[in-house]
Amino acid sequence: MVKDTKLYDTLGVSPGASDAEIKKAYRKSALKYHPDKNPSEEAAEKFKEVSSAYEILSDSQKREVYDQFGEEGLSGNGGAGFPGGFGFGEDIFSQFFGGATGGRPRGPQRGRDIKHEMAASLEELYKGRTAKLALNKQILCKSCEGRGGKEGAVKKCSSCNGQGIKFVTRQMGPMIQRFQTECDVCHGTGDIIDAKDRCKSCNGKKVDNERKILEVRIEPGMKDGQKIVFKGEADQAPDVIPGDVVFVISEKPHKHFQRAGDDLIYEAEIDLLTALAGGQFALEHVSGDWLKVDIVPGEVIAPGARKIVEGKGMPIQKYGGYGNLLIKFNIKFPENHFTSEENLKKLEEILPPRRQINIPAKAQVDDCVLSEFDPSKFGQSNGRSGANYDSDDEDAHGGEGVQCASQ
Ligand SMILES: [Zn+2]
Ligand SMILES: [Zn+2]
Repeated sequence: MVKDTKLYDTLGVSPGASDAEIKKAYRKSALKYHPDKNPSEEAAEKFKEVSSAYEILSDSQKREVYDQFGEEGLSGNGGAGFPGGFGFGEDIFSQFFGGATGGRPRGPQRGRDIKHEMAASLEELYKGRTAKLALNKQILCKSCEGRGGKEGAVKKCSSCNGQGIKFVTRQMGPMIQRFQTECDVCHGTGDIIDAKDRCKSCNGKKVDNERKILEVRIEPGMKDGQKIVFKGEADQAPDVIPGDVVFVISEKPHKHFQRAGDDLIYEAEIDLLTALAGGQFALEHVSGDWLKVDIVPGEVIAPGARKIVEGKGMPIQKYGGYGNLLIKFNIKFPENHFTSEENLKKLEEILPPRRQINIPAKAQVDDCVLSEFDPSKFGQSNGRSGANYDSDDEDAHGGEGVQCASQ
């Protein structure tokens, strides 16, 4: 009985659909919503939904868990694409991997991957860095090589047939559910070992803990989300192929630079004189060097102008070379009354002439002056700002931009 049909609905198939039907429905939707074909945001969202639905429904074990427990049965582990924090822990998922419902033989399983976030600054991602990290992991006991006791002394538990688990059937309303529990005879190990033959080092548990130092190498040019994988370094357990230890780069935000792929973006503030008459400015680059940038006289930098400094972006991993640096300009204008009125007159000789104002001859004209802008009083719709529109109110406390008087 299917508890939740959402993933089937996403693919537009019925819960009884065959693998081939699911595959066909996925191909159809994936082609329709693929970002290459359909660049809209909704399509991207839909593509993600369809892909994660397919990921689950195309995997017979995941599909079985989903059919029985709904999305919460799959909680947020290993790319299932669901937010975490549901009632069922990840354990239920790995238990089912043991073949609880599928009747799959209990062969060597693959252990869980261990994921770590690895925060790195732009400077570190520029130059590269090696971090030594201590990993506490479970390993097979070295004294007994993971057997738990002397060779030949370890017998298969007859109560659970060496599975370490037993099944219990329970009636819940009209449904019969099958649960698994740990075998109480061997305590889930699947083995029976005579006390005298039990490994002294691990006390029959077969495993031990070990502290291992991993050297994590961040290559110059690595990006946010990129993975550094140590194959097979996750926890060891009997009859389990160890998973990987995976470090995922998390790029820290930078005070002055933004990253766009291999390129960098920097906002520079220059003064008006430099913007109009040329000059220099300098910035501290993520490489640790300072860049001195010339603005040649004659080149006018307008507010918001964008310019490129070639080769001053991030290193390009694998291919070599560097991205570019995009500079967005802010222009620092002088303060009020920065110079005398005679000097301002001289500006009229220097700068291009004022733009003529152009008002239709018959238009009614309001003369306005500017006052200071106070963001805390702007855009409100209470009585206070309404006062500006009240013709009886002569009190000019306003400060909301422009005040006008009818001629
Ligand atoms: Zn041992
Ligand atoms: Zn047992």
